[in-house]
Amino acid sequence: MRAMVIREHGGPEVLKGEEIADPVVAPGEVLVRVRAVALNHLDVWMRRGQAARTVPFPHVLGSDVAGEVLAADGIEGLERGTRVILAPGVSCGRCRHCLGGTDNFCRRYRLLGLELPGGYAEKVRCPAANVLVLPDGISFEEGAAFPLVFITAWHMLVTRARLQPRESVLVWGAGSGVGTAAIQIAKALGARVIATAGDDAKVAKALALGADAAVNHASGDVPEEVRRFTERRGIDVVFEHTGAATWERSVQSLAYGGRLVTCGATTGPVGSTDLLRLFAKQVSILGSYMGTKAEFLDVARLFFERKVKAVVHQVLPLAEARRAHEELEASRHFGKIVLVP
Ligand code: ZN
Repeated sequence: MRAMVIREHGGPEVLKGEEIADPVVAPGEVLVRVRAVALNHLDVWMRRGQAARTVPFPHVLGSDVAGEVLAADGIEGLERGTRVILAPGVSCGRCRHCLGGTDNFCRRYRLLGLELPGGYAEKVRCPAANVLVLPDGISFEEGAAFPLVFITAWHMLVTRARLQPRESVLVWGAGSGVGTAAIQIAKALGARVIATAGDDAKVAKALALGADAAVNHASGDVPEEVRRFTERRGIDVVFEHTGAATWERSVQSLAYGGRLVTCGATTGPVGSTDLLRLFAKQVSILGSYMGTKAEFLDVARLFFERKVKAVVHQVLPLAEARRAHEELEASRHFGKIVLVP
């Protein structure tokens, strides 16, 4: 099959089109014809060799897959041709975390496109437990743009920060995939959202997506805008994924009893924290990594009922994966960049 493969770390040029062997399916696994695969920042970290884990080369990136079942070991409901999306996290299914509903803590948790071959290819394999039928009204491109960012944002806001109706949320980077997911999930939960974006066109798009207020974080004073938005109380929940560039402003923006939840550090992993604010305001700092399959099913229900939408910025042929990586690294996008084999 055709695939975009990396055999070394480096710039977008290390992505190369190759003919590689078809995936070999084990019992209980499903073979899927990839119809769309979405990019994540994780793909860029992996390509550069800056991810927390290393993989043997050649490696196929791509954690977010939508496609059609090619073979499913006779599993009921997954006949050949069934339209599906894949939960990107594969866990052992037998340990106390998997059985207890915290399968993203499983010691054998592996991600498609990270520890496992991903979807920058014509075909991909994964356990049947990771397969979800995609309703006919939703395109493959939108289906592929959904899983990872919505699981991540759901785990952060619902499970970690325990966001409540009428609480306020600050979402950094509204144009990123997780930003678009966070705005919509927070609104669906009945919260009030102030979002930030790096230019005025993205600020307008954040408002169109449902944010109650939006501020240009390059030119505006975010903590001051947050004070205005919350009538000087400060924000209940900060949705962080940018790290160094925004961390101090995130801590400054918190209300008494506020929670700062973070899933990433795209601008750098080190930020300074004013500990006076931390204890005097009794705020919480919460780390978050991926989400569980149960959470995936919860947020997929909202998606299938069209209460949240995956925002697709651009669709490119798989062969143009290099250009897609350049687009992602240039941060011009609002929503997801999707490749089509
Ligand atoms: Zn397990």
